[in-house]
Amino acid sequence: MAYDTNNIFAKILRGEIPCIKLFEDEHTLAFMDIMPQAEGHALVIPKEPATTLFELSDAAAAACMATVRRIGNAQKKGLGAEGIVLMQLNGAAAGQTVPHFHIHVIPGSIADLRKPHAMVMADTDQLKAVAERIIGAI
Ligand code: AMP
Repeated sequence: MAYDTNNIFAKILRGEIPCIKLFEDEHTLAFMDIMPQAEGHALVIPKEPATTLFELSDAAAAACMATVRRIGNAQKKGLGAEGIVLMQLNGAAAGQTVPHFHIHVIPGSIADLRKPHAMVMADTDQLKAVAERIIGAI
């Protein structure tokens, strides 16, 4: 499937719509999920345009994992998270809703992920407050 340059994460990368940013480097961006399934739910995306893991370059995949480690460590330190769940969906058939590769980095336990996926919008001020705690631990 051709990459959709108008998907919401492509717009975030171009600065056309805002995000609550946690971290950015040359190859990746990490930001808060606006419909979190647990407190501190973050997303890591590559700057490279790729819909799923299977179109992503090895270099971009490695860069994403380095940023995932950075964010997960900050969630552990800043939020006191004992466990970090990673989730990564490939294709609409798997439940992927945004067609730009991303890794969910979710503090807590798989047993806590009771909120429905991409359904409940969080309060922006609360998200920003949690983001500050993560950023402070990066
Ligand atoms: P997936 O279903 O794996 O494609 O996940 C997409 C994720 O993006 C969901 O968890 C949504 O809550 C999240 N999301 C959608 N739009 C935005 C946005 N504008 N900013 C941050 N997160 C978003």
